Amino acid sequence: MKDGQAESNSKTVQIQGSAVEILGDFPVQVSCMEHFDQILDEYVDQYEVAPYTYKRSDVDEPGVPASCKKCGAAGVVVLLKVKGS
Ligand SMILES: [Zn+2]
Repeated sequence: MKDGQAESNSKTVQIQGSAVEILGDFPVQVSCMEHFDQILDEYVDQYEVAPYTYKRSDVDEPGVPASCKKCGAAGVVVLLKVKGS
């Protein structure tokens, strides 16, 4: 029985000082400028959604990586799926 479980797996991240509700079923990914197009394409292909993008420096959340998922360089863009978008 899973009666106690919320149906939508959402969580909030702090972006520019505001709590933004995101869908936990989709990953939060970080990209450098060089790999942004590639990571965005893969996100759309893999999860069949268009993620929102934010500047990494605007996202104030301990769980979000600081570096690019592909190459480990300093992260510039955060890709995530905002609830209701
Ligand atoms: Zn990179």
